[in-house]
Amino acid sequence: MGPRVFQTIPALRVALVEARQAGARIGFAPTMGALHEGHASLMTRARAECGLVVVSIFVNPTQFDKPDDLARYPRTPERDLAVCASRDVDIVFAPAVEEMYPRPLECAVEVGATAAHLCGRARPGHFRGVATVVMKLLQIVQPDAAYFGEKDAQQLAVVRRMVRDFDVPVAVIGVPTVREADGLAMSSRNQRLGPDERRLAPALYQALQRAEAMVADGITDAARITRTALATLPRDERLKAEYLDLVDPDTFQPVVAVSGPVIAAGAIRVGSTRLIDNVRCVPG
Ligand code: AMP
Repeated sequence: MGPRVFQTIPALRVALVEARQAGARIGFAPTMGALHEGHASLMTRARAECGLVVVSIFVNPTQFDKPDDLARYPRTPERDLAVCASRDVDIVFAPAVEEMYPRPLECAVEVGATAAHLCGRARPGHFRGVATVVMKLLQIVQPDAAYFGEKDAQQLAVVRRMVRDFDVPVAVIGVPTVREADGLAMSSRNQRLGPDERRLAPALYQALQRAEAMVADGITDAARITRTALATLPRDERLKAEYLDLVDPDTFQPVVAVSGPVIAAGAIRVGSTRLIDNVRCVPG
């Protein structure tokens, strides 16, 4: 039997009230669909820890800084349901845009320093949109635990900070990044890569691994590390580096001299597709 699918907030709430009254621990994984093994790992973890597993599938327009990126975002609704069924998900919440935004929002979550660098700088308004929709989804589902991928490490840090700042009663659980055999972090956007682009894409992870190795070797000069890591990227007109930086794992502030664990985070464009990845680096 597949998951129960709800498109409206009131219908979902009725089902959740029943589950809550029955004493089920509710686990929740928000997604934008085009589901892959990375999303599935969130479901598997939630399934192991919770009595009721809810997955949302909603391509949130307010977190896209480019209309073209939103229009081209992959959508595979039938396959998504099969993935959820294969991981024994109980409930899928798949609202239309009008259900989530029946009127323009007047209120939003204001994000701060955690969202200021990396993707926050590259994509103005992105984390405000993410934080606001995650806040709405947490209010709608009211889960005991919410599962997010470390693949989007800055997003995870922004959500953790928001949950602390607003005293949201939910445990935020980070789940390790799932990768393809050649190291490329799984992403819905990978579907958009042509064969040549797909061959170039793992270079980002390799560059981040270079940074990880330098930190492990005891090198502390962040500028030297990021310069060397960036220089590993193949010179190819289809590949453009957007950023590669070392940041503090909790605050996401840039690190100048490495003195403890850091996150090496990078974004590249391959053709018209933007890819991000990150690696936790620990000094040797
Ligand atoms: P998205 O559908 O891209 O918004 O992602 C939904 C959730 O799945 C987010 O918490 C992501 O961090 C997580 N996720 C996406 N890709 C991966 C991956 N390769 N490994 C682990 N989690 C992932």
